[in-house]
Amino acid sequence: MTFSTPAVREVLADRIRAVGLKVTAPRLAVLHTLQNAPHSSAEQVFAGLREELPGTSTQAVYGVLTSFTAAGLVRRFDPAGSPALYECRVGDNHHHVVCVRCGDLRDVDCVIGEAPCLTPSDTSGFSIFAAEVTFTGLCADCQAAVAELEAS
Ligand SMILES: [Zn+2]
Ligand SMILES: [Zn+2]
Repeated sequence: MTFSTPAVREVLADRIRAVGLKVTAPRLAVLHTLQNAPHSSAEQVFAGLREELPGTSTQAVYGVLTSFTAAGLVRRFDPAGSPALYECRVGDNHHHVVCVRCGDLRDVDCVIGEAPCLTPSDTSGFSIFAAEVTFTGLCADCQAAVAELEAS
């Protein structure tokens, strides 16, 4: 594994241990890759670490991501029309804004600052923990591109 410093490796290892998981090379590599490239799909994580960890498989990466998600170390979300994406930013009930034209995806802070930030009109008797919101629209680049298309 190539980490910028041994300290980086230790910080990642501590975070894996903190959620009760054993530290392994694939787990370190997945967490490291995800930290440098948030909102990655399992395929993208696999592509990102294949060189550093030869012999690993997409299946192994899926396995690590699933145990990370179950342990609360990683958050998984499922934007419409895209494979599941993973990120290390957990526990802050943040949301996402997605460009419908180019797929650019960014974090948006929780609308009111704490979960759940939306109150359903009818909870059907559920107690509500969280609300995941995906805002969709056009990013700044795409707004400009569309304006140019329309002007020509
Ligand atoms: Zn866009
Ligand atoms: Zn995010």
